[in-house]
Amino acid sequence: MSLITELVCVQCGTRYREGEASTCPRCGPDEGILDVRFDLPRAAKTLTRQSLAERTRSHWRYRELLPLDDKFCPTEGHLGWTPVIEAPRLAKALGIGRLRLKDDGRNPSGSFKDRPSSVGVARAQQEGMQTIACASTGNAASSLAYSAAVAGMACNIFVGKNVPQGKLAQLLAYGARVFRVQGTYAQAYDLCTQACQRFGWYNRNAAINPYLVEGKKTGGLEAAEQSADDPPDWIVCSVGDGCSIAGVHKGVVEMKAIGVIDWTARILGVQAEGVAPIAEAFQTGKLDRSGRGDTYADSINVPVPRNWRKAVNAVRQSNGAYVTATDGEIMKAVPLTGRLTGVFAEPAAATTIAGIATARERGVLDAKSNVLAMITGNGLKDIQGALKAVGEPFDVQPTLDAVLAIVQKS
Ligand SMILES: *Cc1c(COP(=O)(O)O)cnc(C)c1O
Repeated sequence: MSLITELVCVQCGTRYREGEASTCPRCGPDEGILDVRFDLPRAAKTLTRQSLAERTRSHWRYRELLPLDDKFCPTEGHLGWTPVIEAPRLAKALGIGRLRLKDDGRNPSGSFKDRPSSVGVARAQQEGMQTIACASTGNAASSLAYSAAVAGMACNIFVGKNVPQGKLAQLLAYGARVFRVQGTYAQAYDLCTQACQRFGWYNRNAAINPYLVEGKKTGGLEAAEQSADDPPDWIVCSVGDGCSIAGVHKGVVEMKAIGVIDWTARILGVQAEGVAPIAEAFQTGKLDRSGRGDTYADSINVPVPRNWRKAVNAVRQSNGAYVTATDGEIMKAVPLTGRLTGVFAEPAAATTIAGIATARERGVLDAKSNVLAMITGNGLKDIQGALKAVGEPFDVQPTLDAVLAIVQKS
C-alpha cells in the first residue's frame, strides 16, 4: 500500500479519498486541481538518510513519498538522481555568490519530464490500464513515450503543429502513435482529454492528474537530499503549466517534514516575458485566461496554465518571487550556460539562468545569494531553438590559410 492519506482540492480545500476523484467535482476540472497528501510521520520512520544511502540511485529511492503501491514501484532505474554541478564562472558572470545547476537534461529522454511520466506509467499499470496518452508541447510527450516503451504499454500523443523536430523524432522512435493537431496547444490538450474519456486511455496530463506532480516532486526531493548539509538560499525553476515548480517546492517541504533536511529554500519562478500569466497572477491573485502571448522557449509556452494556483502558492509559501525574461535574454543564456558550465540547456531550461540575471538586476538576488537552478531539458531537444541562439559557424575552404585568416580575426 502507498502512504497516501487523502487528496485535497487546492481551491476549496475539500478532501477526497484516493480514487474518489481526479479533479474536484465542486470546483470543476479547470480550478479543482487536487493535491496528494501522504502520511509523513510514517514515511519518516523508513525514509531516513541512513536508509537512503543504501537505495537505488534513481528517483525510485523515494518510494514512501510516491503514489504507488510497493508492487508497482520499481526498486531500480536509470532515471533521476541527476548531478548537481558547481558553476563558479557562471555565478560570477551573473553577479551572485554561488550557483549550482541540477542537470535534468541527463535523464533518459533528456528532460525533467521523465520524472512525472515514469510515475504516470507506473500509476497507470497499478490502475490496470493498457494504454496511456498525453497532450504536450514536447518533453512530456517524449518522456511518456520513453516510459511507455520501457514498460511495454501503448502510447498516444497529441502535439501542437509547432513541435520541435528532435522531440517529434523521439516520439516516433519510441513507438508512440502521434496526433499532430492542426490547432493551438489548448485545443490539443482538450482533444486528448476527450479521447481519453472516449477510448478509456489513462490521461497523463499533469495538471489534472494529481499523481504526476508527485513525480515532479522527486526533483525537489533530490535537490534537498543532494544539498542536505550545504543548502542553497534559492531554488530556481522555469515555469509553463506550473506543475514543476509546485512539485519541486513540495519535495523540499516534505524532506523537511520527515527530517532528512532541516532547512527550506526560497523558490524563484521564471517565466518568459511573452507568456507570463503565472508571474502576473502572483501579483494580481487572478489568472488572465485570454490565452495571449508567445515565446520562443517552446516548453514553457503555455498561455493558459492549468496549475497556476499551485505554482503561485508554492512561491508564496516559500517567501519567494517571480521574474520574467525576454526571448532575447533567454537566447543569450543558452550559449552563456554552455560556455561557462558545459551544460547545454534547451531554451526553456536556460530560462532559469536568464531569470537569475533579471532577479539580480531587480535586487531579488544579491552578490551573496547561494542559488540552485533546475536545468530542465537538454539542448539537443530543440536544435532549431538552439541554432537561433548560438550564431553561425565559420565556413572555410579546406586549407590551413583559410583557417589562419579566421584565427587572426577572431
Ligand atoms: C515542462 C517544462 C518546464 C516547465 O514545467 P511546467 O510544469 O510546465 O511549469 C520547464 N522546462 C522544460 C524543459 C519543460 O519541459
